[in-house]
Amino acid sequence: MVQKTMGSDCSPVAAKTGGEFFVAEDFVKLFEAFFDAKMRDAVTDTYSQWPKKHSVNVDYGVLDAFDPELCEKLLEKPDVVVDWAETALKHFTQSLFQEERALHVRFFNLPSLFEVPVQALGAEHLDRLVRVEGVVSWVTEIKPLMKVALWQCIHCGHTIKTATDKSAFKKPGLCQCGRRDFELLEKTGESNFINMQRAQVQELVEKLRGNAPTANVELWMEEDLVNIMVPGEKFIMTGVLRLRPVKEGKTKTAVYSKFLDVLHLQRMEREFEAIEISKEEEEQIRKLAKDPGLFEKIVKSVAPSIYGYSELKQAIALQLFGGTPGKVLPDGKRIRNDAHILLIGDPGTAKSSVLGYVSHIAPKSVFVSGESATAVGLTASAERDKEGEGWIIKAGAMVLANGGLAIIDEFDKMGLEDRGSIHQAMEQQKISVAKAGIVTQFQSKTAVLAAANPKFGRFDPNVPPAQQFNISPALLSRFDLIFTIKDVLDETRDRKMADHILLGHKTGLQKEPVTDEAILPAINLDLLRKYIAFARRTVHPVLTEEASEKIKEFYVELRRMGEKDKTFAITARQIEGVIRLAEASAKLRLSDRVELQDAERSIALVNFVLNDVFVDKTTGRIDSDIISIGQPKSRVDRMRTILNVIRSLEKQFDLVAVDDVVKEAVAYGLDDVYVRQLIDELKRQGDLYEPKVGHIKLSRKDL
Ligand code: ADP
Ligand code: MG
Repeated sequence: MVQKTMGSDCSPVAAKTGGEFFVAEDFVKLFEAFFDAKMRDAVTDTYSQWPKKHSVNVDYGVLDAFDPELCEKLLEKPDVVVDWAETALKHFTQSLFQEERALHVRFFNLPSLFEVPVQALGAEHLDRLVRVEGVVSWVTEIKPLMKVALWQCIHCGHTIKTATDKSAFKKPGLCQCGRRDFELLEKTGESNFINMQRAQVQELVEKLRGNAPTANVELWMEEDLVNIMVPGEKFIMTGVLRLRPVKEGKTKTAVYSKFLDVLHLQRMEREFEAIEISKEEEEQIRKLAKDPGLFEKIVKSVAPSIYGYSELKQAIALQLFGGTPGKVLPDGKRIRNDAHILLIGDPGTAKSSVLGYVSHIAPKSVFVSGESATAVGLTASAERDKEGEGWIIKAGAMVLANGGLAIIDEFDKMGLEDRGSIHQAMEQQKISVAKAGIVTQFQSKTAVLAAANPKFGRFDPNVPPAQQFNISPALLSRFDLIFTIKDVLDETRDRKMADHILLGHKTGLQKEPVTDEAILPAINLDLLRKYIAFARRTVHPVLTEEASEKIKEFYVELRRMGEKDKTFAITARQIEGVIRLAEASAKLRLSDRVELQDAERSIALVNFVLNDVFVDKTTGRIDSDIISIGQPKSRVDRMRTILNVIRSLEKQFDLVAVDDVVKEAVAYGLDDVYVRQLIDELKRQGDLYEPKVGHIKLSRKDL
């Protein structure tokens, strides 16, 4: 083995000047010995697959076992050490295959000790090797990068090569003829091009708590590292933090932006990986699962400081666990296992508070508000790259929350474009982007918990709630459960709620731990979060015979009820929701079997929602058309009746008097006031118009 010179400086300058020169040489020899001893197979493999493979990946652990000092140097001066390693590799391929080949050496698997959180990346990490974990938020298209530029002197024809760095390429200083006018020879073959790509990662969503702002860092990738990243995926990156001047127009400023020059990429596979559960915690979790009051305890831990809303809290508890994933029908259709929940309610009814709270319990969640979501993008988008030409593919909240929960406040204020793409995201759990010739698809196995206000800000008690949703029927029908929250005047309830809120404020001031049961989460939040992650990771419940039978019965019974009036009380889409919630209920108990009790719990919740939102108040029956078409079937029928009446009257009179229409319609068994309401509604929709006060006319013949 080569004699090492200890403790000497190993900066590139030192390595190439005078007496220190041998130091670098010694390290190169050391690397040659390392490749010979530990990496023969890997090098042979890369060599034989060239040019498909460019790089030899060196495990930090293996190098550390070989020579810890070398590793220390690698962390401190990665540029120099990588240079040594690549030189050594060149020599090594020469000795092995009698052919020198320039391969990259990519170090990876740095111990987590050297992991730097994205938000902590700072000046102290500059030019050092770090390990960073993150989720990809955007990538650019790949671009050719001039790695070596060939310049020709326009006077004497002499050529000079310069290496480019990440920010700009350098013009050579002076030509041998003493002048300094060069022309860049751009043609491939003259100058040397490689592929490069920029991207951005942000802190892993599961590591963030609450609504902390997400830190991000830009990445720079070259050659075989391009075209690996897709927005929404998680990676462990090994790289060197560098600075680049920020340009404003053509002038450089004193402001620098940091970026990670990536040396190695490793995709992280499992979901919820970041949540570690120790053996003791697993024991605690299994013990908790046996608690007979488990479900109530979990429900009580969902937003305990918010008074009431028992069913909503139950639904959220189930949503956090989700149904059984990975079910695929024979025709290849994937069945979604995430339950989506929507709450629509009057202002000041704690919608935002509930949502905020849930973001603390969910092991993985992204919280966005509809108003601001347009800028962030809820799904995914292609945008113009501000720094270069071309496009950036950006992942939105639904992609970043993949495998977790997307919490969307002010759902009704979401931009139009996002509303359109969220359909596919919620049902197929994929998001496609097709723009500017870019066609890509992202995974979004994400459950949605959304909150919205009614159409006119507050519910009108005289109009069925379903007609006051400011969300398109197609989008509404994607939700498994819809809750309405009406701010009603009820003194007893108001009193209790005031007590509850006051209690929260009182205990909020105390320095000692809270002891009052009413507002204390029944389960420690940290444990609950781990419990949920554990259940999602390990339990995959299957329906038992009794549970299936119960669900079938429920479905058939509701359909039968509707048959008489030709209404659809429930559609097949909703039955999938019932199954999902039943599975979630089993998963919550850490049970692999969906039992009767789970089916019953799920049916009770679905029934609650059906009765609250889907009941057609005029007939007292459940009618799913309220959501899927936007109005109850009976109402559609009645509008038709009125239009028929008008049409027949138009045959007799030029102008039809409203009073005549009402008289006629009442004869068909409709209510006087209701008919006038519907006529107003038809006028608002533009189907009727009023040529003269008290008279109406059809605006189209085909109505
Ligand atoms: P929204 O988003 O529905 O407009 P907020 O979440 O902003 O309402 O709630 C307004 C305030 O009223 C919050 O401070 C919330 O805690 C309080 N509040 C409303 N309803 C309740 C309730 N049922 N229990 C406890 N606090 C409530
Ligand atoms: Mg709000």
